[in-house]
Amino acid sequence: MENNGPQRTCETMEEHRELLKKEPAYRERKLQIERFTRRYVRTNAREGLRSGIVIIPVVVHVVHNTAAQNISDAQINSQIAVLNQDFRRLNPDVAGVPAAFQPLAADARIEFRLAVRDPNCNPTTGITRTETSVTSFPRAGNPVKSAATGGADPWPSDRYLNVWVCRLSGVLLGYAHFPGGPAATDGVVIRDTAFGNTGTAAAPFDRGRTATHEIGHWLNLAHIWGDEEVGCGGSDNVGDTPNQADENYGCPAFPQVSCGNGPNGDMFMNYMDYTDDACMFMLTAGQAGRMDATLYGPRSSIVASDGLVPPPPSPGVDLWSKDRPEDTGAEPDPSPLPMWESDDIWVRRQNDGVTNQEHQNPEHRDPGGPDNFVYVRVRNRACRGAANGTLKLYWAKASTALSWPAPWDGSVSSPALMGGLVGSQPTGSVPAGGSTILQFAWRPPNPDDYAVFGGDRSHFCLLGRIETAPTAPFGMTFPETTNLYANVQNNNNIVWKNITVVDEVPGGGRMAWTSVGALAGEEVTIGRLTFTAPGEDRKQELERSLFDWGTIAVDLGPDLIERWRDGGAAGERIDLIDDTTIVVAESGAWIGNLKFEPGELYTIGVHFEPKGDRETNEVFFFEVTQYASGEDREEVPVGGMRFVMKTRYREQRRGVLDQVLTFNGAEFLRPQLHTILG
Ligand SMILES: [Zn+2]
Repeated sequence: MENNGPQRTCETMEEHRELLKKEPAYRERKLQIERFTRRYVRTNAREGLRSGIVIIPVVVHVVHNTAAQNISDAQINSQIAVLNQDFRRLNPDVAGVPAAFQPLAADARIEFRLAVRDPNCNPTTGITRTETSVTSFPRAGNPVKSAATGGADPWPSDRYLNVWVCRLSGVLLGYAHFPGGPAATDGVVIRDTAFGNTGTAAAPFDRGRTATHEIGHWLNLAHIWGDEEVGCGGSDNVGDTPNQADENYGCPAFPQVSCGNGPNGDMFMNYMDYTDDACMFMLTAGQAGRMDATLYGPRSSIVASDGLVPPPPSPGVDLWSKDRPEDTGAEPDPSPLPMWESDDIWVRRQNDGVTNQEHQNPEHRDPGGPDNFVYVRVRNRACRGAANGTLKLYWAKASTALSWPAPWDGSVSSPALMGGLVGSQPTGSVPAGGSTILQFAWRPPNPDDYAVFGGDRSHFCLLGRIETAPTAPFGMTFPETTNLYANVQNNNNIVWKNITVVDEVPGGGRMAWTSVGALAGEEVTIGRLTFTAPGEDRKQELERSLFDWGTIAVDLGPDLIERWRDGGAAGERIDLIDDTTIVVAESGAWIGNLKFEPGELYTIGVHFEPKGDRETNEVFFFEVTQYASGEDREEVPVGGMRFVMKTRYREQRRGVLDQVLTFNGAEFLRPQLHTILG
């Protein structure tokens, strides 16, 4: 199709080539980063998409010569919203991806927020506004990035993504710096009329995709055609994008064949091509993997940034870890969402957890075998002053009914040892606004010791506590009680995570297990279990819900089923399908009025049965949460378990489509499902 309108222009490669010429150090850093990235992708591709969400702090520098160029906050917010759709595969137009490429379209699991803490630890909107006498800025020399040349100085690029919005010279839409460039010019520049999807944004670049494209470069994505001058020899170094000769403009009709890439041709609807905003709407899993490598490698300081943490109300040092990605250290944590899913604790089966912060299930190894490793990120929320403390890391046999200090303190040995200390380490000096990662070697307990839990023999939880005083309350703002959930929510220096030891579970590891009930020594409680799929509300609109795909069954076992019947079989959105198994019809289902005597623990099995293939790259969560009420107390959350399920699409050499699923970290092939449904 002929396209006579304005064409996309990006000068990231021109900038890159100039830097290569000017700065030998940049050339060397870029080579190192590429070597790191290839090794990372090669080593970690099997793990699929990252399950955690990385949130990047953004500062937008509006540099304006006219009133119109001084774009509104609404226009800036519209751009942030576009990024949060595009990098999460939540953009409605992803439905327009041709069927042949649909399996490759991925949720990169990256989000963006305007900064709330500026480099001097003052509150900020994350927007700076600078009036300039410069009528238009050329790329060459980066004048928009310095106050001395009529622009705005950057904020520290190791802590913020700098985005300059200005009138660029000629028809230039934008350009970016790849990782490895000079800190003083790091970031992206976007033309004022190509920013966001409202206000002065002008067709055909009025859907915010110029920033998506440029931030793709900033996260080390190349143009999809490989940037060679002519021909098919270049590569974007991404395994799942077709080889492509040149850029595409406008809104091409599918397919556009080049370089023998038929029948499906170029992936011109990828954000890293040159098509119009309305005609680009996907990233691939391979591109997401490269961006993961960037976030764990050359841009790892962004992941640790304090740019989204408001300056604390009191000036003192404050060591903390995040309960959830959006946690800012407030006490208590205002989030209504579960407190047992901290991304600041992660397990690796080998000591690579600094460069790969994706949580793995630990693995039981025979005596003499290698250790597993647990990592905990400890942050300092203060504006000034380094802080020191002691991190104590504990394990417990997994259950949705955990309290404090038992069983974490090792005092419960019936029916088996139910918890203990993994280790204790000084945090060292953590600088204001900074963080440190502590590593603990760990040998998880032998699953054979937990036969009494049936299928749930190899599933453990972790708890990290940062103590800053040697005696009670150990530096906690709210002294700890037996209510573990409240302790974690109230104190920002306590974090919690559920885990599953992967071992050869008889019958396959296709089911995930957890224990529910009440620990010894507590009063009689009335329990309620809820079954939810977090984030499903956003996914449901796009027909990407776990419930759209298959059936979730929960095997309660004969004893718990009897307890449930004794309590009147209370529940909603569930169907009893055999003597012990319920099917969860939709997110938010529950069973209740479960009377638990002290010390009663029941093992339940969660089973996902897919209906047909899902040829896609996805991360799904399923959550079991236990609530308790008593004689004279309101219902409160006690604890829960998150089950992570990943799908990974890959095309094998012979062109046979295959799908690998990961359920709770145990990778398995589709046909091996153990069926418990009738
Ligand atoms: Zn570009």
